[in-house]
Amino acid sequence: MKQLESKSMVLLRHHLKALRLPTIGAEAEKVAAQAACDNVDHLTYLLQLCELELLEREKRAAERRLKAARFPTFKSLETFDFTARPSVNKVLVTELARCEFIDKRENVLLVGNPGTGKSHLATALAAAACAKGYKVRFFRATELVTTLIEARDERSFLRFKASLQKLDLLVLDELGYVPASKVGAELLFDVISTAYERTSMIVTTNLPFESWTEVLGSERLTGATLDRLTHRCRIIETKGESYRLSDAKTRARSTRNARSVAKTRASAAD
Ligand code: ADP
Ligand code: MG
Repeated sequence: MKQLESKSMVLLRHHLKALRLPTIGAEAEKVAAQAACDNVDHLTYLLQLCELELLEREKRAAERRLKAARFPTFKSLETFDFTARPSVNKVLVTELARCEFIDKRENVLLVGNPGTGKSHLATALAAAACAKGYKVRFFRATELVTTLIEARDERSFLRFKASLQKLDLLVLDELGYVPASKVGAELLFDVISTAYERTSMIVTTNLPFESWTEVLGSERLTGATLDRLTHRCRIIETKGESYRLSDAKTRARSTRNARSVAKTRASAAD
């Protein structure tokens, strides 16, 4: 009997492998033992195994989507301190994290000085989208322009553009740090107008709208780009000083306080 069982187990493993059900293969015996203890019927046992397979599959797909998004550093909304950035509307950000804006093909624009949490929020919202099953890709604007320029004259250009069109959400980080060349600005505009009303975008920039001409060169191109980006767009302003700077100041202040407490204690002990 024992031998028969192990023979059917070998066959079962083989079939499950052919059917690409690795989690059921790995868990079948353990769950069967538990089912026997709990007096669980056959259909419930099968249901438990299917649920395990689906859960594991979804977990792996979510990991793949996160990897494919290529975030430079992972950030989440849980680690964003909203009290440190009162200009950011927490209710709006929480609503955006539900990702309905992606279904509506809307954009999100994060505007503010360096260090004020724009990339953090953009990454956290895009990571929330990955978790919900959306296809996401994160680019620094300069990185995207360089990739486009390099691929321009090759067949990979069309392949790259097709891969952008398959996305649900495109993140363009740091638009405006470096002025784009004429060709770069036109290629960037091409991406933005192709995405318009088809793929949602999250764009972060340190530039107020009136300075965008400095980056994109021509007023005509700037007008057309802004028109597409800001149509059906949620704007989040991260006003105030750099988080890193204020964080450093707070740390310096607490070190100074700790030192003066230690000094007072030392002189009291003398
Ligand atoms: P920006 O893109 O506006 O230049 P970042 O998002 O890169 O700024 O923020 C700089 C650093 O400070 C990052 O490590 C980020 O995680 C952190 N940071 C910024 N704002 C906050 C905040 N409100 N709460 C927690 N961390 C923050
Ligand atoms: Mg940034």
